[in-house]
Amino acid sequence: MAFVICEPCIGTKDTACVDVCPVDCIHPTKGEGEFEAAEQLFINPDECIDCGACESACPVQAIFPLDAVPDEWKSYIDKNAEHYK
Ligand code: SF4
Ligand code: SF4
Repeated sequence: MAFVICEPCIGTKDTACVDVCPVDCIHPTKGEGEFEAAEQLFINPDECIDCGACESACPVQAIFPLDAVPDEWKSYIDKNAEHYK
């Protein structure tokens, strides 16, 4: 399983989740070139260890465990994974 970043990140993108992720699997970070152009941040599903730290750190509740992603945001599951292909 993995956690997934959904629509509320768009327009917020404050990187609070990046600061708490113990395995640095959320990108792009502020130091990465693509940060400015990125609409939102994405979680690498192959590296996420399901600790849940990011979920409670997000000020706009954009992050959900895979099995709890709301129906209207299911497309974000692929969107997060695609970022790492
Ligand atoms: S659940 Fe944990 S490991 Fe996965 S992205 Fe969030 S903070 Fe990182
Ligand atoms: S904490 Fe939430 S709003 Fe901020 S970058 Fe992460 S997912 Fe986006």
